[in-house]
Amino acid sequence: MSDNGTGPLLPLERLNRLENFGHSIHSPGYLYRPTQIEEIEELFAASRKQGVAVALRGSGRSYGDAALNSGGIVLNFQRMNRILEWNPETGIIKVEPGVTIEQLWKYTLEDGWWSPVVPGTMFPTLGGVLAANVHGKNNWRAGTLGEHVLEFEALLPNGKHVVCTPKKNKDLFYGIIGGMGMLGVFTSITLQMKKVYSGYLEVKAWVEPTLERMLAAINENKEEDYNVGWVDCTAFGKRLGRGQMHTARYLEPGEDPNPAQSLSVDAQVLPDTMFGIMPKSIVYQFLRLGMNNLGAWGGNLAKYILNRTLEQNKVDRWTFTEFSFLLDYVPNWERSYGNGGLIQYQSFLPKETAYDTYMQILRLSKRRGLPSYLGVLKRHRPDDFLLSHAVDGFSLALDYKVTRRNVARLRKLTADLNQIVLEGGGRFYFAKDSTLTPDVVQAYLGEETVSKLKKLKKKVDPQNVLQTDLYKRCFG
Ligand SMILES: Cc1cc2nc3c(=O)[nH]c(=O)nc-3n(C[C@H](O)[C@H](O)[C@H](O)COP(=O)(O)OP(=O)(O)OC[C@H]3O[C@@H](n4cnc5c(N)ncnc54)[C@H](O)[C@@H]3O)c2cc1C
Repeated sequence: MSDNGTGPLLPLERLNRLENFGHSIHSPGYLYRPTQIEEIEELFAASRKQGVAVALRGSGRSYGDAALNSGGIVLNFQRMNRILEWNPETGIIKVEPGVTIEQLWKYTLEDGWWSPVVPGTMFPTLGGVLAANVHGKNNWRAGTLGEHVLEFEALLPNGKHVVCTPKKNKDLFYGIIGGMGMLGVFTSITLQMKKVYSGYLEVKAWVEPTLERMLAAINENKEEDYNVGWVDCTAFGKRLGRGQMHTARYLEPGEDPNPAQSLSVDAQVLPDTMFGIMPKSIVYQFLRLGMNNLGAWGGNLAKYILNRTLEQNKVDRWTFTEFSFLLDYVPNWERSYGNGGLIQYQSFLPKETAYDTYMQILRLSKRRGLPSYLGVLKRHRPDDFLLSHAVDGFSLALDYKVTRRNVARLRKLTADLNQIVLEGGGRFYFAKDSTLTPDVVQAYLGEETVSKLKKLKKKVDPQNVLQTDLYKRCFG
């Protein structure tokens, strides 16, 4: 079939080798890049007729298999990337699903508006981040991005168009946001942006010597607008889980003497060099040398000592992009994990069980010789979305290197970690996941939620058109 809907659905020339963000999963898919809603309608109609599964894909920045569909169709939305409406008075913006977070802030910031919630990278699409219902480093305060959506239009796999708001088609609003592309395609998204008075945030940095102190520091700083902990998962004994804290707050009107300058796109664009001379594009190749257990231990130790010596209790002004997209600073940093790539394991624990559960996770990973090389700690609050990942508590996102030699042990480790998280009353996040099985999903979401999802799916997608590898793995 061509992009205008005629011909075979799976022609060889559309076959591509697709990957997850961590380059640890590879999957052949027949790639389509629609520019118009009509092309999606035609493709869905043909898929329903021929029984071929379709997966939706934005920028492919999910860590696991959320945007892959082995042997089936993958619909990539990056070409549907127009800003449809913008009101700089109210901060309300309407976009197509392929608009990226980067496009969004570049369009609105000079008018004094920033996205109320952003993930740790600016490259995902709005369709992708809403399908995951992303959280930022302000989740306990601002909620998820879905909580700032005023309205969206979606095309359902049964061919129907719907308009959803928190009041209209409520079940679909709370199901498609966070629904990981299983229930429908966002065709337009209307979002309320946040008014800001400077392109700077006031950032405080300091180190904490234990995980217990890190968790307490996050709780004690809940009046800040953002907070995040960078956790050392390689340290020994009581120091395991220590790290650096960052909190940040928006500036009030008048605090920035030259807001027009700091809000300009030029002031926010991340530099291409490090230390003024080294092209950042080659940095990941140097990082690669240290991506082993010894190197990660040494790197984390050096970072801790440097931060304790030079950054302790430092208060500074950072641009929004520096603070929000720290990981984008090193292009292709994920490639430093080597040919096997990486997986991320993010678990969400209620505040009552977080400390004990995270210590168990960190200790077990170390004992098995599989420490995470980077841990990121955040504070969360629950939300009303059907497949919510959030809790009144914390999340710890752990990056694990994958190699040919460790892959079986890593699979066993993460299966054991899943049980530890369940025992702690925890939850998981599909955007980061590559380890869940249907029994674990059923256990953390609960039977009622899974059955609601299946009912909704049957209603909007009776022929099971929308399927990703994640959907098949987690829901059978
Ligand atoms: C470095 C890094 C940092 C990150 N930090 C955070 C963070 O701080 N917080 C957080 O919450 N997440 C974070 N993420 C995860 C990321 O935000 C999500 O995985 C997001 O979904 C990626 O968007 P994407 O456009 O790449 O979508 P993809 O990965 O391509 O797809 C994600 C899901 O969206 C579905 N989808 C895509 N387009 C549509 C559409 N138009 N309609 C309906 N469904 C669609 C897909 O089927 C898939 O299930 C991070 C990821 C990276 C790589």
